[in-house]
Order: sequence, then structure tokens, then C-alpha cells
Amino acid sequence: MDLFLGIVAFILGALIGSFLNVCIWRIPEGKSIVFPASHCPKCGKSIRPFDNIPVVSWLALRGRCRDCGEPISPRYPLVEMLTALLSLVLFWKYGLSLQYLAAFLFAAALVVITFIDFDHQIIPDVISLPGIPVFFLLAVFVMGIGFFDALIGLIIGGGFLYLVAVGYELIAKREGMGGGDIKLLAMIGAFLGWKSLFFVVFMSSILGALVGIVLIMIKGKDMKYAVPFGPFLSIAAVMYLFVGSELTHLLLYRSFS
Ligand SMILES: [Zn+2]
Repeated sequence: MDLFLGIVAFILGALIGSFLNVCIWRIPEGKSIVFPASHCPKCGKSIRPFDNIPVVSWLALRGRCRDCGEPISPRYPLVEMLTALLSLVLFWKYGLSLQYLAAFLFAAALVVITFIDFDHQIIPDVISLPGIPVFFLLAVFVMGIGFFDALIGLIIGGGFLYLVAVGYELIAKREGMGGGDIKLLAMIGAFLGWKSLFFVVFMSSILGALVGIVLIMIKGKDMKYAVPFGPFLSIAAVMYLFVGSELTHLLLYRSFS
């Protein structure tokens, strides 16, 4: 990988991460993600351009607003760093190509969904609903996923979780899986193709169960404590982007040949 282009991909990722922070905070409140410019939530002073450099400014200001000293959540540099790393690793995998841009857009949407679901236990329709057709088209025309591969992924992704949710409601008499998870898995299936769904459902269930067990051990929460499932679906989908196709190939075709 060209070192210079790698650094560019990293910095681009950090800048986009800064914008994703805005999306994460404002989308659940139904606010515009464009206006007004970033400002301190406590004193309302706008953030100076030189204080708005991803990660660097937060470190330089030691996590506090320059005007009023109010602590600024470490989540800001965390999201910027995470997005920068995702951009770098995807660039390393796909090189300077449309595939890199499409995969990065997909990962960026999942970052926003993950943190919003984590905070509010909702997956905003404004991302997942347009995400289904957009990522379906990107899968077919950019990523080289077959038309039916992506279409079946979309349908199974949406349908499978829908059936699980209906079944769970019948048995447990209360709502389990949210409608947001269903639309998210439809979006994931459309972009990664139907074969990805084995890995994504399996891996997200394991991750969710592990975190659930740890939470119960630490906090003594009872089993009904709802851990949002969107972050695990998102993490599993990103894992699939990197290693999943090789893994699925190994598992599916080894066992049937
Ligand atoms: Zn302030």
C-alpha cells in the first residue's frame, strides 16, 4: 500500500468520523446535521476551526471546552479514531477504488447506527430505509455482488429476523427484536449478499450473548435487560467485510463437497 495514500485515507476517515459524531448526536433529536455549525452543548459557543481537528483538538484541549471548561465526551475522539482506522483498513483491502468508497460508506453508516442504537435503543429509519436500496445498488454495480445474491440477501435479511421476532413474541408474549434490527439486517444482506447472513447472524448472536452474560455478571441485571442488538449486527457485518467471505466459503463448501 502506498504510504502517502494510506495516510490520506486515515485523515479522510478521521474527518468523516467528525461528521459522524454530528449525525450520532443530532439524528435521534430530529435536528439538521448541517446547521448550525458545531457548538459546545453547555455554553453554546461555536467551536473554532482550529479546535475542530479530529482527535488532535480533543487531546490538546484535554477533553474540555475552551470557553467554559465543560468536559467533552471521549466518545468524540473515539468515533473519529474508529472511523479513521476503518477507512485505513478498507483502503488497504480495496485500494484506491470505488469499492473502497462504497465499503467505507457502508462502514460509516454502521458506525452511526451502532452508537445511536447504543444510546437510544433505536435504529433510525432515516439511515436504514434509504440504506436498503442504496447499498443494494452499490453491491450490484460497484462491489460485484450478483443481482440475485444481493436481492435474496435483502429479502432473507429482512424476512429471517421478522420471523424470529414474530416467533419470539408468540412464545414470550412480549416484543424482543426491534423492527429496526430487521431493516438493518435487510440492508446488510443487500450489501454483502445472502451468503453473508449465516456469518452475520451467527457472529452477532455470539457477541450479543457474551456481552449479555458479562453484563449480568457485573451488574446482576436479569435476563430481560435488553441489550441493543444493532451494534452486534454492525460489528459482525464489518468483520464479514474483512474475513467473512473466506470463512463462509470454507464452512459452506467444505461441508458440502
Ligand atoms: Zn463550552
